[in-house]
Amino acid sequence: MLCGKCGRDADGKYFHLGMCQSCYEYYRKGGTENPLPEHGKIKYDCRGFVICHICGRAYKRLGSHIKESHGMSIAEYKETFGLCNNSKTTEKTYSEQMRKLAYKYDMHKRLKVLGENTRIKKGENDKRKGKKSRLQECLERSERYLKK
Ligand SMILES: [Zn+2]
Ligand SMILES: [Zn+2]
Repeated sequence: MLCGKCGRDADGKYFHLGMCQSCYEYYRKGGTENPLPEHGKIKYDCRGFVICHICGRAYKRLGSHIKESHGMSIAEYKETFGLCNNSKTTEKTYSEQMRKLAYKYDMHKRLKVLGENTRIKKGENDKRKGKKSRLQECLERSERYLKK
């Protein structure tokens, strides 16, 4: 029997209301269906869960969903959908993380103004690690996110 939601063959596993077990469990727990997030963006559903770029479902812990449902590692997932490596794919710590990032970013701007010549420039610092564009992207993205 094929699952009416995900179309996968449940292969002998039990069915509920025409859905495979994982789909049934998902909707039973109040899971939502969402439009697929844009490339490079992390979106949340009304519960604050992270929306999967592949199927549009939202999960508290996207990493394990990606692995179990799509057979992809979270690193591959982020790579494929243009998400930066320190993007949070769990809902719990997300806003806290964003606050920290915003704070850091703000600090960076202030420090730049106050100590332009005395401080090691962030760009140089990051270049050594070869992460400049990535980090910058993340910061800009989180800043945009906060403005919404
Ligand atoms: Zn299913
Ligand atoms: Zn998915």
